Amino acid sequence: MTALLDGLPTATGRSRPDVDVGTLIVGGGFSGIAMAVGLRQAGQDDWLLVEQADELGGVWRDNVYPGAACDVPSYLYSLSTDQRKDWDRPCPRQEDIRTYLHDVARHHRLTERVRTGVTVDRASWDEATARWTVEFAGGERVTCAALAMACGQLSKPAYPSIPGREDFAGDSFHSARWDHDVPLKGRRVAVVGTGASAAQFVPPVAEEAGHLDVYQRTANWMLPRRNRPYAPWARRMIQHVPGLQALRRTAMWTFMESGIAAQTRIPPLRLSLRAWSTWHMRNQVKDPALRAKLIPDYPIGCKRVLFSSSFLPALVRDDVEVVVDPIVRVTPTGVVARDADGTETERPVDVLIWGTGFKAQEFVAPIEVDATDVGGTTRRLADEWRDGAAAHLGITVAGFPNLFLLYGPNTNLGFGSIVVMIEAQVGYVLDALRKLRTSGIAALALRGDVQRVSTDDVQDRLRRSVWSSCDSWYRQGKDGRIVNNWPGQMVEYRRHTREVDLDEYEPIGRAEELVRGADVAVAGR
Ligand code: NAP
Repeated sequence: MTALLDGLPTATGRSRPDVDVGTLIVGGGFSGIAMAVGLRQAGQDDWLLVEQADELGGVWRDNVYPGAACDVPSYLYSLSTDQRKDWDRPCPRQEDIRTYLHDVARHHRLTERVRTGVTVDRASWDEATARWTVEFAGGERVTCAALAMACGQLSKPAYPSIPGREDFAGDSFHSARWDHDVPLKGRRVAVVGTGASAAQFVPPVAEEAGHLDVYQRTANWMLPRRNRPYAPWARRMIQHVPGLQALRRTAMWTFMESGIAAQTRIPPLRLSLRAWSTWHMRNQVKDPALRAKLIPDYPIGCKRVLFSSSFLPALVRDDVEVVVDPIVRVTPTGVVARDADGTETERPVDVLIWGTGFKAQEFVAPIEVDATDVGGTTRRLADEWRDGAAAHLGITVAGFPNLFLLYGPNTNLGFGSIVVMIEAQVGYVLDALRKLRTSGIAALALRGDVQRVSTDDVQDRLRRSVWSSCDSWYRQGKDGRIVNNWPGQMVEYRRHTREVDLDEYEPIGRAEELVRGADVAVAGR
């Protein structure tokens, strides 16, 4: 047995020493960790979590750019099971969230069932044995009854296909792969992109750079985010006043729900958000020419609203230029943009930073996921999702029994805390596993008609949401189908995911019969 799989129960009757577990979790970011915590709390010990990188943390491990922080307060952006009262400011910094996730992993003794540095290549379901076989890049295999894919929506950096990008001869990196060895002090820096990441790293970069060009393709609505460290008296109150943490959590949750309502159900609420944002932006940008570049013309909430009180002040600096002319190419020494008259201007660059976001629609890719039924017919998830990913409640997919997606299709939020959504998904998966255990059924296969109805309903509601009125990373393909966002409130999602409705699923096999038939030792089931 390889060191990777040391200490885990082996499957028997196979040509090679595989390992068999009840649940395999793929990905050790917020959702993978939350799933593992849920299993621990449910008293389950027959699981394994594999993570591609050499430590847990997901986006909070990868995004180490200067200024990286969450723009949602910690008391909502943390697990309800692992609330902490000693954060030093409302919106935690990247390193604090990374530390928090590691603390959670330690506290729940997750590490003994976590394997890092493991790249999953392929996952195949075989209905005859009712088990997933998961293949790793090193050649090892794990079989499992349930597969929880926690690969994230924002884990794969996206680079734009701008001509000449590869020919740039200076220093260059993506915001999610920040190269801290590249000096910025006094140099000419260009940033492409003005999303939530750039809004955080542009202010500290502007402080250091000799000159900064910020290439903005689309303007963003912004709201203030003050994030001063708590005063000592405030920290004492948070720690010692009973119920205060819960009260703040509820208040922030309610505020976020109102933002979601503005985006999805109650358009007039957008008027107040727009007025607030316009006031904030006009207050911070006095120059009418710059204002004209920065204040968007699309409905607020269509793209993700950026929460920052420092981004606009950075853009008004004399040594910062906001370039809104489209980039036509990158040269070995600079970036060329073309103005409305067709005049091209090359701006010299020493350091080129891509703040261009993520391949948010790939979900589980490049992992190949397929399922073979008893008749021998194999379906590939990539084929099923050719026109856009879809899953019932963002979690289960017809044709792929016992596959559970975390932070899957249509579960992202425009306002709110994704941790709330992840915890709801974890609860749903735990309920599915509980029902499998108590019923003795080997697997749950989502009914195709259930997925069709739920996908149609989600898409119908999304068409009426603000997200259908502009382009954004939430949309995919020619028809601009919204594949990332949930169309409703967080509380509604929690209600839908509170328990698994067995009528929506077809049962597959009896666990004992399948186990006997395949001669597989099912750990702990
Ligand atoms: P993003 O929001 O997708 O922004 C990418 C930026 O790059 C956009 O301004 C985009 O312009 C621009 N861009 C892309 N291709 C381009 C091209 N070919 N030419 C010029 N500009 C181009 O990515 P992100 O800023 O990394 O944020 C992604 C998501 O991560 C956020 O929406 C948020 O959900 C999450 N996030 C959260 C936090 C937090 O504090 N909670 C912090 C950072 C990120 P267009 O707008 O025109 O497409």
